[in-house]
Parts: sequence; C-alpha cells; structure tokens
Amino acid sequence: MTDRVILHCDLNNFYASVELLERPDLKNKPVAVCGSVERRHGIVLAKNDIAKHLGIKTAQTVWQAQKLCPDLVLLDAHYEKYNHFSHKVREILYEFTDIVEPFGPDESWLDVTGSTRLFGSGEEIAYKIKQRIKEETGLTVSVGVSFNKIFAKLGSDYKKPDAVTVISKENFKEMIFGLSADSMMGVGRHTYLKLQRIGINTLGELAAADRRTLKSELGVMGEKLWYYANGLDMSPVVSQNDLPDIKSISRSTTNKLDLINNEDVWKTFIGLSEEIARQLEENDFYALKLTVMVRDESLSWESYGKTLDNPIHLSIDIAREAMSVFNSHYDWRTAIHSIGIAVSELILSSEPLQISFYSSDDGENDNLEKECENIRERFGKNAIIKASMIDFDINIKQQKNFGG
Ligand SMILES: [Mg+2]
Repeated sequence: MTDRVILHCDLNNFYASVELLERPDLKNKPVAVCGSVERRHGIVLAKNDIAKHLGIKTAQTVWQAQKLCPDLVLLDAHYEKYNHFSHKVREILYEFTDIVEPFGPDESWLDVTGSTRLFGSGEEIAYKIKQRIKEETGLTVSVGVSFNKIFAKLGSDYKKPDAVTVISKENFKEMIFGLSADSMMGVGRHTYLKLQRIGINTLGELAAADRRTLKSELGVMGEKLWYYANGLDMSPVVSQNDLPDIKSISRSTTNKLDLINNEDVWKTFIGLSEEIARQLEENDFYALKLTVMVRDESLSWESYGKTLDNPIHLSIDIAREAMSVFNSHYDWRTAIHSIGIAVSELILSSEPLQISFYSSDDGENDNLEKECENIRERFGKNAIIKASMIDFDINIKQQKNFGG
C-alpha cells in the first residue's frame, strides 16, 4: 500500500491578518482583535506577531492586555469577514482535492494522495497552495506535509508564519522526538501533566513508553497517543459533507418541577450549562447566541434570546448569560414548571480561541473557582452541583410536591 499524502493548512493569525488587510498602516504596530462591542468587558481573540512577542495572549482580558502593552491597537471582530475569507481559502483548497476537512475557520486537512500525479508531490502542492492563497487573499499560511493527520498538523505548527514543513517516514524521529509531548494534537495541559507524572516529557519518550502502562495510566487516549507519536495514526481526512451539521445545542429540565425564585433558576442553569459546555467542548464550538426557554404554569414555552458580545463556551459564562437574559425578561408572576437554555450561531473554536474549561493557562480557572466560591457563599455549599445531581434534586422536589 502506498503512503497517504496529507496536508494541514493553517492560516497565520487569521482574525488579525484579515483585519490588517484593510489597515496596512498598522502593519508594524501591536494589534489585537477583541470580541466585545464594549471593550472593557472583552477578551483578546487574536493578535498579530508583534503583539504576541510583547506577551499578549489569546483570551486575556482587554484591560490586562492594555496594562501589558499600552500602545496595543484594538480592533473589533468581524465574523462575516472571517467567514468570507474562510470560504475563499477553502475554494482554493478544493481545487487540489475534494477531500478537505475543515478544523475551525482557519485550518484544514487535505488528503492529496490522489492528486500527486496531477499537481506534483505533497511538498510541491503545499507551495502551490501557499502561493495561491497569498496571491488571491493576501493571507499567509503554514502547511504541514506528512503521511498522517497528526504529523501534518504538527508540521503546520512547526514553522510559522508562511512556511512549509515536511514530516516524512524517514525524518520524523529526528524532527519531532525532541519536541515536548504537548506540541502534539491530543495532548492538552491535563494530559501533559499526567504524562509528566509518569516521566514522559518529550514525544520521543512517549513513543518509547510502554503502551500498556499508558493505557492503564491514561485510558484509551493514552494508548492512542502512543500510536500517534509512533506515526501510526490512521484516521482519515473526512470531507465536510460527511460531517454532522450541528446548528444549536440545548438542554432543558424534563421533569415537572417548580422553580419559585432566582436561586432555584440559578442552580438549574448551572447544571444545564455544564451539559451544554461539555457538548460545545466535544465539538470544539463557541456560541454567539443564547436563548432561555421558560415554561410557566400556563404550560406554554416562552423564549428569550440574546446575541452575545463575546463567543462563549465555559459553563459559568453560559449560566451567567442565561441568568442575565432571564432576569431581564421574567417577572415571576407564576412559578416555573420547566426551563431550558439553548446556544446557537456556533463557531468552531480553533486556534484564535483555544481556551478550555479545564486547560486554561491564564487564570481563567482561578476566576471560575472564585466565582464558584462566591456562589457557594451566597447560596450554600450545594449551590453548584453536577447536572446529574440536578435531576436528583428535582426528583426530591417532586416527591415533596407529591407528598405535600
Ligand atoms: Mg491559524
């Protein structure tokens, strides 16, 4: 069987680069794109290389970023524009193969195994793509060329910006075994800590580790990572048409229950939000719109929506936004029988927004913990409970209702 030829294309500093196309005057200044209309509440979504070198990080709050770099130029995010460029780039990619798997707005895998006779080697195709994108959009891209998806992605991260990196069966050990294990896709901060605890720091050490030990320490994922590090990832490039189309994610309480005050609603929101956040994370989504559904004693659903200033995905943010929507619409004329939250206008997270509930490096977790503490102080130590516990809670309430 001949080797596959897989490419991973990654647009460099995508949001910031798009904004700078129209502002060449800012080319030599530190620039950050932020999500909020009202900037002091916003976070940094993307930055150019100059800002990066000055220590500006994605997901930093705007005021933190400004404190670090008072000259920082702030630009509003324009998602329609990013979508436009995203499509334009993808059209170019489709000219080289119809097996294109998008990963966020700015990244794609391509399987060009069948295209090499027409367009040349994987490396030659990568240079052609890079040139076409630059000529037709003005954007730069980093491309990884390899025989599997994991190494292709590693290749596009290897050298930035505006570069092509080939990781082959012949050179991969020499090229990547010295890298820290978390430079590989699949090794998040949490997994990396676990690996370090069993003495694995580099990809070489991961590849040489005992597969059974990895499985017993990290579960199925541990075993997968061993395969990845040894160049044995066989996962196919899945073209866009084969991907499930998720337009919204929603959760609501299914049982009949009576929520009688804001505290009840808040507790329920915390539970629903955790479920929604988990599903957002599984699909690498952020949400731009949130809707609260309420069914009161009239037994008809009312829904109240809000377009968000920043894309959100953390459960605490979902709960907070839901609460603010709820507070501005519901007047407590009657108790609530059922309540739900839906998030929609989903965008793929990808590079500019890689902040996760569990793996944030810049204090997000601390804030979350603090917030949880505040909630516990205000509402008692059981105020924050897992979603599965909410059902339990609801059942108890029901029983009480039935009993009384
Ligand atoms: Mg990128």
